[in-house]
Amino acid sequence: MKTTYRAVQVTRPGFLELVERKTPVPGSGEVLIEVEACGICGADAADIERADPALQPPRVPGHEVVGRIAALGANTPSIWKVGQRVGMGRLGGYCNECSQCRQGHFQLCQNQPIVGASCDGGYAEMMLARATGLVSIPDELSSEEAAPILCAGIATFNALKKCGAQAGDVVVILGIGGLGHMAVQYARRMGFKVVAVGRGSDIVEDALALGAHLYIDTHQENAVARLQGMGGAQAIVTTISHADTVSSLMGGLAPQGRLVLLGAGKDPLPVSAGHLVVGERSVLGSITGSPYENERTLDFSVLAGVRPMIEVMPLEQADEAYRRMKSGDVKFRMVLSMGSARARQPNSRHG
Ligand SMILES: [Zn+2]
Ligand SMILES: [Zn+2]
Repeated sequence: MKTTYRAVQVTRPGFLELVERKTPVPGSGEVLIEVEACGICGADAADIERADPALQPPRVPGHEVVGRIAALGANTPSIWKVGQRVGMGRLGGYCNECSQCRQGHFQLCQNQPIVGASCDGGYAEMMLARATGLVSIPDELSSEEAAPILCAGIATFNALKKCGAQAGDVVVILGIGGLGHMAVQYARRMGFKVVAVGRGSDIVEDALALGAHLYIDTHQENAVARLQGMGGAQAIVTTISHADTVSSLMGGLAPQGRLVLLGAGKDPLPVSAGHLVVGERSVLGSITGSPYENERTLDFSVLAGVRPMIEVMPLEQADEAYRRMKSGDVKFRMVLSMGSARARQPNSRHG
């Protein structure tokens, strides 16, 4: 194994720098991953722009990580082997001791690192990871394809499972970007009548090609009136956190409909208590999910032919890749590819 590796760190808030670091030795319960690919999630912006400037060494962002186990620390479960392809999403491994873990709510563990925020992530050739956070990657998916499923995929797939809609019901996907383009595909394959809602007409063909039955451009028409004309939506899954945009669509929710929030915005969300009570509507938040649920998401993606639409750039261009994601100039997910990944092409689909 190489004694050093390349990593991209937030040297100061908003500034990504390629550096060389000493290869670490995994501690108890940890593995060392040789990273092959890492998606650039919208949530990375908060980790990069609001990084702690005093942190040493600076944080490595990235929480859609796929690679191979390079070394096992002590006390790791026998299901994980050196050379095995694994992934890691936003949740960095549960503790198995807190009250949420003891109830089996691993995604709600109170002692769980947030990858790329409270522990180093995957904009790097190597990454340490808690074994409890590891996800097994199916052979059918390339590392570049699998990476975005570990956050954008599971976040939307789990939200759709919790949204209460049944096959044939109208389900709205609000915001067609990195998360939304996965949500549309899953919703279609789960048997819903899929309505994609966005701003502008530039995205309409993509939304329909991904599986939406209908696209509503809020610049062109009144989305609430259109949804009410369809009998209302049984669920609205929103991938954006802009409070006014989300609350303005709530009038399109059918009785007993659910608004599922994925964007972790901090602004208060205005909701009408009467609208909730009289129609028995509800609002819920959904975090990504546990490693087991992440494996279910990957398996469903293979089963149903769901793939992220990706653009791939090399690790050394992480800064440019990040800026393109931030500007909205990516259809639909930017993925960083490490040298190890490029070396194994063109057989990546089978590795
Ligand atoms: Zn994410
Ligand atoms: Zn816990």
